[in-house]
Amino acid sequence: MKRCVKCILPNSFPGIAFDQQGVCNHCRSYEGSVQKSQEPRRKLERKFSELLESIPRMGNYDCVIAYSGGKDSSYTLKLMSERFGLRVVAMTFDNGFLPELTYQNIRHVVEGVGVDHITIKPNFQLLRKIFVEASKGALYPKKTVERASTVCTSCIAFVKFISLRVAIEQSIPFVVFGWSPRQVSGSSPIFKMNPMIIKSMQKVLYTPLHRIAGDAINPYFLEPRHFTFADRFPYSISPLSFVEYREDTVLREIAAYGWRRPDEVDANSTNCLLNSFANELHRTQYGYNPYVFELSKLVREGYLERSEALERVEQLGNPAVIELVRRRLGLVSPELYAKRK
Ligand SMILES: [Zn+2]
Repeated sequence: MKRCVKCILPNSFPGIAFDQQGVCNHCRSYEGSVQKSQEPRRKLERKFSELLESIPRMGNYDCVIAYSGGKDSSYTLKLMSERFGLRVVAMTFDNGFLPELTYQNIRHVVEGVGVDHITIKPNFQLLRKIFVEASKGALYPKKTVERASTVCTSCIAFVKFISLRVAIEQSIPFVVFGWSPRQVSGSSPIFKMNPMIIKSMQKVLYTPLHRIAGDAINPYFLEPRHFTFADRFPYSISPLSFVEYREDTVLREIAAYGWRRPDEVDANSTNCLLNSFANELHRTQYGYNPYVFELSKLVREGYLERSEALERVEQLGNPAVIELVRRRLGLVSPELYAKRK
């Protein structure tokens, strides 16, 4: 497999082109732009502090954190509560594939930091149906498969809209995500959610999911009444983009609460078994790891060594975990692993 000599994008990645030096078009256009569009970290942090001062805190919480129990969202939770002094409610979406250790990690962190916590666990049969359909191929616009597997995109849709729903219903001004710096590409780490834009974003995800599972998904998305509260639409905040982010520091600080990395999970996820399965499926169907775009960006921007990124995309998921997921989803047919084109 040929890969860009600067980042790690492979020749199987859609639309990729290499020049004579073996550098890909994404790296070349990055050199040209040199982060001009990105607001510097300090400016963003100041912007967030100013927002904190100017926004009235009417409800019982200042922020809802989408809390997966992974390292990044665990660290984010600590930051929001301790550094920024916010009243936090953590929200975990339980997709039915959290390792046992993740439940323990969640308990250690929410108790250690001292925040309220809610778990939302939809009927597993509903989720199973969705994940099975998502395993068969693309449900969403084509571009989404370049950034994440269809299974993960489905799961993230739930996470995003449940947190937003909680925020609107409880007048919480900030929805906070633990995306690491590379994951917030495209949108700013701080922005006010616009009801019209959110409505069209939801439609793209909701429509295919509704086709699969019907009205049973309604409790997890915004309903028409939520759009009548335009003034309650919160800010979306991704603090790991504007605070110092070092993986070793993150791991050390959360280990102090008793957080441990689940052994059985692959290198790109510290909190979900489904991830290994979804990665392998995506790799078979599309010919590249669904994290390759994200990891390449990280290498390009100097957050990660190229060799380490390579190691992560080439690491295969634990076969026992993948088998467990397949069995739990009731997937036996090998034709699932056919190539997509
Ligand atoms: Zn490249």
